Amino acid sequence: MTFKTLDDIGDVTGMAVLVREDLNVPMADGQVSDDTRLRATVATLAELADKGARVLVLAHFGRPKGQRVPADSLGPIVPALSAVLGRAVGFIDDCCGAGAEAAVAALAPGSITVLENTRFHGGEEKNDPAFVAALARLGQAYVNDAFSAAHRAHASTEGLAHVLPAYAGRAMQAELEALEKALGKPEHPVAAVVGGAKVSTKLDVLKHLVSKVDHLIIGGGMANTFLAARGVDVGKSLCEHDLTGTAEEILTAAEAAGCTVHLPYDAAVAKEFAANPPSLRICNVHEIAPDEMILDIGPQAVEALADVLKTCRTLVWNGPLGAFEIAPFDTATVALARSAAALTKEGALVSVAGGGDTVAALNHAGVAGDFSYVSTAGGAFLEWMEGKELPGVAALNG
Ligand code: AMP
Repeated sequence: MTFKTLDDIGDVTGMAVLVREDLNVPMADGQVSDDTRLRATVATLAELADKGARVLVLAHFGRPKGQRVPADSLGPIVPALSAVLGRAVGFIDDCCGAGAEAAVAALAPGSITVLENTRFHGGEEKNDPAFVAALARLGQAYVNDAFSAAHRAHASTEGLAHVLPAYAGRAMQAELEALEKALGKPEHPVAAVVGGAKVSTKLDVLKHLVSKVDHLIIGGGMANTFLAARGVDVGKSLCEHDLTGTAEEILTAAEAAGCTVHLPYDAAVAKEFAANPPSLRICNVHEIAPDEMILDIGPQAVEALADVLKTCRTLVWNGPLGAFEIAPFDTATVALARSAAALTKEGALVSVAGGGDTVAALNHAGVAGDFSYVSTAGGAFLEWMEGKELPGVAALNG
């Protein structure tokens, strides 16, 4: 994969540069409640503004479906973005049209301005060439800095790259470089941890990974379907019994590809889905009672998996190993995340993790900062783990 970066953009003094960012932040009572995504924009926006560009930020917010929905305006995000940037940020209440063009013409070099929600126009999600052209009239170059929106071929995430000189922003560049190290051209042996609730949402991930990694570690609710496929009675556990055939196919494909699949030997089980339930016990997966459910993988399994990680050079992780939101079913996720973080700190492992729940789980374990790279992208990260080419990234290629 080759793509141009801000190192290639040349002299941008006075140039209007359209920068696609991800400003789709969570809000509570009209305030930004988590500014992680805003902080990710700083490197690119500050660099371009410092070089004298007139920086125009394009982004979507919510799902207004081509209508001007006031609740989905990007206006309320602007003060929070200004705070993380530590400089003034302007706002133009449309992302195209004569009014926007006049407002852009009046901007000073070195300024940063957010344009209103691209999804207020139906042409955004349709990737309509007329809308792409209307956006392109505002600037002379396009920078895509929003990996998390790159799995969508929309006007501001893909179309613009075909009509303006296109570059990856710093956050996009860091993400692509980290992902390349983890699955593109990784150092072997490679381990993948795939957890989470259901097999059905991650079938394509599992199918792709068996041909790419040396060790596939399956945890979370989805491990139950694999255990059931191997003849284990998982009691009342979350289990997609209709997918045991598919699970078997994945196990067969793994064996053919020389990928070792690790399923848990033991588990933390309980009769109710609650914090610290009185019925909690640790047992071998072959000893689960009909009224019990698996809510975390067990301590023996975690110890064995930590030993597997010690033999690996690369780790890619998506999904928690148990119902980590409730104690003590966070135990395995926290323990294995800490082992991975320690190996990373020693320089023995390149560790890349991604997905909303995974980031929450690593933050909960206090180790997100110790992984080599943590992607906050949800859908885009999963599609990348499925081996799919992301349209927004493909459009930057060349
Ligand atoms: P996902 O969105 O597919 O990554 O799934 C994450 C969710 O899976 C979290 O909310 C966990 O609580 C849940 N989960 C993980 N392991 C289990 C389990 N053994 N039983 C039920 N839910 C689980």
